[in-house]
Amino acid sequence: MVLHGPGEPLRMEELPDPEPGPGELLLQVLACGVCRTDLHIVDGELREPKLPLVPGHQIVGRVAGKGGARFPAGARVGVPWLGRACGRCPYCLSGRENLCDAPTFTGYDRDGGYAELAVADERFCLPIPDAYGDAEAAPLLCAGLIGLRTLRLAGDPARLGIYGFGAAAHIVCQVAVHEGRRVFAFTRADDGDAQAFARELGAEWAGDSLAPAPEKLDAALIFAPAGELVPAALRAVAKGGAVVCGGIHMSDIPSFPYELLWGERVLRSVANLTRADGEELMRIAPRVPVRTQVESFPLGRANEALARLRAGELRGAAVLRPLAAGA
Ligand SMILES: [Zn+2]
Ligand SMILES: [Zn+2]
Repeated sequence: MVLHGPGEPLRMEELPDPEPGPGELLLQVLACGVCRTDLHIVDGELREPKLPLVPGHQIVGRVAGKGGARFPAGARVGVPWLGRACGRCPYCLSGRENLCDAPTFTGYDRDGGYAELAVADERFCLPIPDAYGDAEAAPLLCAGLIGLRTLRLAGDPARLGIYGFGAAAHIVCQVAVHEGRRVFAFTRADDGDAQAFARELGAEWAGDSLAPAPEKLDAALIFAPAGELVPAALRAVAKGGAVVCGGIHMSDIPSFPYELLWGERVLRSVANLTRADGEELMRIAPRVPVRTQVESFPLGRANEALARLRAGELRGAAVLRPLAAGA
């Protein structure tokens, strides 16, 4: 499924098989998660994708062909958003490859997983825990690991607010509850479905994101791309609390009085992931155990999956299945 220009629907096309370069694996795509970042790319809010582009950066694939040093032929691997980092810039050299000056992002700078075949740099692939089916594993690869990084940057909050209850939130909520945190879920006022979903996953409270929180929070994670949530979340956190924005794009943040930030409150974003984030999530997900809720679509219905995400009509995460993978 190919993007030719921002704002256009993806087109189903027959492409030549991708050729793995040195250190790369050829993968048969078993499932590929649909991320909000894909929507930002398709809608033109992220402005520099390669074009034409095969989107998709939550790839669960089976190593086809000869395999590599870490993953032999037939192994199941995951391919996340960070497709490659340069290994030489000051960020890579200081353990912050998520901030690499010359990164390659899967499904943005190189073709991704809305396809039957993909190639990936083996060093940046992740193992997939056996406990997960192909479709169930896909949302771990971005929603899950960006969600986990967002939680880790929030410190060690006893009372955690989660703003926007989609794919990332539904995973991070389970991890947070497992770690003994009290979770408060904030959604659009009229989104009773999302609020019920949050309670099912262990949130002790769920309600309107723009109304006052039921009690002070120690940290808040924002996954919805709505700038007005930033002052709302700052208002909800106690002194010393952190507000962490987990998305790659957000509408403009309205100005707000300094007193919302005063009291050593911290506001920060999360950018991308490191391989260590990915490996941590793959270790802990089966222990929690994180159960992902997915809605599968045949690959050819990628536009419908994106439309459902845009409209906020998904419970959990959308996953595309190439027909060859048995969708
Ligand atoms: Zn770098
Ligand atoms: Zn993503």
